[in-house]
Amino acid sequence: LLQLYGPLNFLGSMYSAIRTALVDLEHMLGLTDETPEVKDPGKPAEMTLTLQGHQAASVEFRNVSFGYSDERQILHDVSFFAAPGKKLAIVGSTGAGKSTISRLLFRFYDVSSGAVLVDGHDVRDCRQADLRAAVGVVPQDTVLFNDTIGYNIAYGRLGAAQEDIEQAARLAQIHDFIMSLPAGYETQVGERGLKLSGGEKQRVAIARTILKDPRVLVLDEATSALDTHTEQEIQSALRVVSAQRTTLVIAHRLSTIIDADEILVMEKGRIIERGTHEVLLGSDGRYASMWAAQGAENSAAD
Ligand code: ATP
Repeated sequence: LLQLYGPLNFLGSMYSAIRTALVDLEHMLGLTDETPEVKDPGKPAEMTLTLQGHQAASVEFRNVSFGYSDERQILHDVSFFAAPGKKLAIVGSTGAGKSTISRLLFRFYDVSSGAVLVDGHDVRDCRQADLRAAVGVVPQDTVLFNDTIGYNIAYGRLGAAQEDIEQAARLAQIHDFIMSLPAGYETQVGERGLKLSGGEKQRVAIARTILKDPRVLVLDEATSALDTHTEQEIQSALRVVSAQRTTLVIAHRLSTIIDADEILVMEKGRIIERGTHEVLLGSDGRYASMWAAQGAENSAAD
């Protein structure tokens, strides 16, 4: 039996990794508005969903502990507050719990203890559909629908006028590229159409999010490095979408979060350091050594 333990354990973790990926994918694509694990409240809080004409929403984690199963706790007493319009960055080694934070913000799962609040509302008091409309995500890897590139942007707000779609594409710096395609906005993309590069797909996701106009934005930074030019274009498109919006960045490259209002450094589900870039560098701890290590990597790549 002991010999079986290793492989079974492995299969168990594979299953859970695949399940998480599928749950995330489904929700990112909006295929389901509801998660079976969580229930809508009887009397939901009224939320304002979009930024237009409204304030950005605050995001708060109040003493949050969480585990995907009872046996293993993943987050331990995590607390932070992002005031409306501020930029909060989360860094830390792989498996530290960064993506888990974004999953709890969407209420894909309920916390074991503590509370997650958006705009002052406990997410358990909100309709899931409202919460997911108020929070927009630019994922690491955007999946495109087998449809036109115009539809792929319009998905952020179905029924949007063509001029709004084009305006979003301009802001995301993808309009000129689209116009250079033979069929323009009608060009078929996805598996059966034109294959877009990682950087182009990410700009489609940014345009989609600009159109959706959510009050809170989650940026899950791609781990794979893009070339410097593409990276700069993406960063400037992201600046447009995050301006005035409360933004949570799950960051892999520290150079992109120097201007964050607060940086949380996570390790094994705990926040071990927090502060601005300057404060963290000055305190000579984990962040400072990550910064030094990335500096060395960057200069080795030059
Ligand atoms: P990375 O930088 O590699 O994306 P991360 O900091 O985002 O890592 P999380 O994805 O939040 O890490 O994962 C934190 C821990 O939770 C990991 O140990 C992971 O194995 C575990 N985990 C994630 N999803 C599940 C799940 N659905 N079931 C069980 N455990 C999970």
